[in-house]
Amino acid sequence: MNNEATTTETNTEVGGLVEPLVMPDIGTVTGQQVKEAMIANDITYVDHHECGICGVMVHYFRDGEFLYFDPRCGCGCGGMPQEREFEDAARWINMQDKPEIKAKLARRFGIEA
Ligand SMILES: [Zn+2]
Repeated sequence: MNNEATTTETNTEVGGLVEPLVMPDIGTVTGQQVKEAMIANDITYVDHHECGICGVMVHYFRDGEFLYFDPRCGCGCGGMPQEREFEDAARWINMQDKPEIKAKLARRFGIEA
């Protein structure tokens, strides 16, 4: 990552219409939606976050109709993989305040706005 300033985004007027810069709010997603989107898009691995100590990405993974969270990283502070409900992933998406973050996260699971 670099911190170099990016160009300032401005709304572009096209024929009197202002193009929205923010992504549309995808609304509330359900566990069922997450499950179906992952299966339909053959998504078996979803990044969650990097361990703050060793930097290894901990993640969700799907095996058939089951979702697991794998907290294992390089420094062994996370424990063993655990089965999770698809609702847990949906809750993680739904709790995001910023629509663009929410949409980005949903996309990781195969859900498009
Ligand atoms: Zn670690």
